[in-house]
Amino acid sequence: MSQKCIIIGMSHAGIHLATSLRQYGWQGEILMIGNEDILPYHRPPLSKGFLKKQSNIALIHPESDFEKYQIQFRLSTSVDFIQIHNKSIVLDSGEEINYDKLALCTGGRVRKLNIRGSTLKGIHYLRDIRDAQKLREHLKYVKKVVIIGAGFIGLEIAAVLIEQGIKVTVLEVNSRILSRNLDVVMSNYFIQLHAEHGVEIKTNIDIREIQGKHHVESVICDDGSKFDADSVIIGIGVIPNVELALTADLEVENGIVVDKFACTSNVDIVAAGDCTLFPSDHLQRSVRMECLANAADQAKTAAATLSGNSIPHSALPWFWSEQYDKRLQIAGVIDHYDQVIIRQDFTNGGFSRLYFEGNVLKMAVCVNSAKDFIASKQLIVQKPAIDLKLVQTEANLKQCVLKK
Ligand SMILES: Cc1cc2nc3c(=O)[nH]c(=O)nc-3n(C[C@H](O)[C@H](O)[C@H](O)COP(=O)(O)OP(=O)(O)OC[C@H]3O[C@@H](n4cnc5c(N)ncnc54)[C@H](O)[C@@H]3O)c2cc1C
Repeated sequence: MSQKCIIIGMSHAGIHLATSLRQYGWQGEILMIGNEDILPYHRPPLSKGFLKKQSNIALIHPESDFEKYQIQFRLSTSVDFIQIHNKSIVLDSGEEINYDKLALCTGGRVRKLNIRGSTLKGIHYLRDIRDAQKLREHLKYVKKVVIIGAGFIGLEIAAVLIEQGIKVTVLEVNSRILSRNLDVVMSNYFIQLHAEHGVEIKTNIDIREIQGKHHVESVICDDGSKFDADSVIIGIGVIPNVELALTADLEVENGIVVDKFACTSNVDIVAAGDCTLFPSDHLQRSVRMECLANAADQAKTAAATLSGNSIPHSALPWFWSEQYDKRLQIAGVIDHYDQVIIRQDFTNGGFSRLYFEGNVLKMAVCVNSAKDFIASKQLIVQKPAIDLKLVQTEANLKQCVLKK
């Protein structure tokens, strides 16, 4: 009898898992269930081209592919419970559906700011297409925006808004921006970049309350400073959606705990994407990541596991961001290094910062330097010994590998 796999969550991880299942030869039924009212779409443009009105929403696969891959789907449907005793899920309508294999691709939701005034009109978060549409519409009417949180999403939004002639102030509680992903030098680079475009960034600043009668009027900080705003955008991080996993008594920490094969503590249930905590080969510890490349790669691993193949999740995490005319690409994760080498990219006016431990490349941060980024991805994975003197010349990075 044909087996049935249910995938919960219809976004990057979910759709990669579904299509990969077919590629690995899964013959049974595939049912995707998602609580958004749209087929899987590209999320990264929401804070970039979509907000700039340069692009519209882009589906990851056209609807016709669902027929081609024989993937059934249900939109606008939440899964409320997993019942492991009879291998079924319960939908928000009360309907029960049985599964043979289950995949949790439930991603994350925005962390909410819970202070006085945080439910006033004019406050925005950005996670999905509905948030982006609301924000895009609202921006037509605003002149002054305060962004709370100087992470990638907050800064990408800042770059878009300032170019639309909106006054932008970014408030960050930490002593520097992007501190989770970048070193001090790169934090300062982005502070400077935004300052040159007119964005005011304040660090070391705690928000006390948001003031306004019905609608946002200003943001008040602990040090007494006040920033007038007719809109406040909050980007203070993502919380993994683990509640469904808890209904099945799966092991959960800061994410659904999976092994390197994307398997949860229940053999019939895999998980992939932003919702998982997984053992990273590169970092030699467990991590939860919020990046598209990880979601897609881990989903492929999960699909392999479900279809009886054992392919460990060991892909190198990488990430990108776009702010003004700068394309930042990061390969690897900042961890142990003892030397940084900077290379200029004369063709594109960019540069790369390469982080070495001994003569092995651990991480690369590239700005408008796609060539070094591509080469770095390969070198970080293969870990060859590198000629550090040659790296400091204009030589192609791939040619800097020391001969054995
Ligand atoms: C504005 C923005 C810009 C970004 N830019 C970049 C970028 O430049 N580069 C990069 O690498 N990454 C970027 N990211 C991050 C990237 O989009 C995420 O890493 C990726 O979307 C993770 O995919 P996922 O499938 O794991 O989770 P999600 O995309 O969070 O999808 C999970 C889905 O599951 C649904 N769901 C959850 N629970 C249930 C349930 N019980 N029942 C039914 N459905 C459920 C959710 O509604 C959602 O649709 C960005 C994210 C945002 C929001």
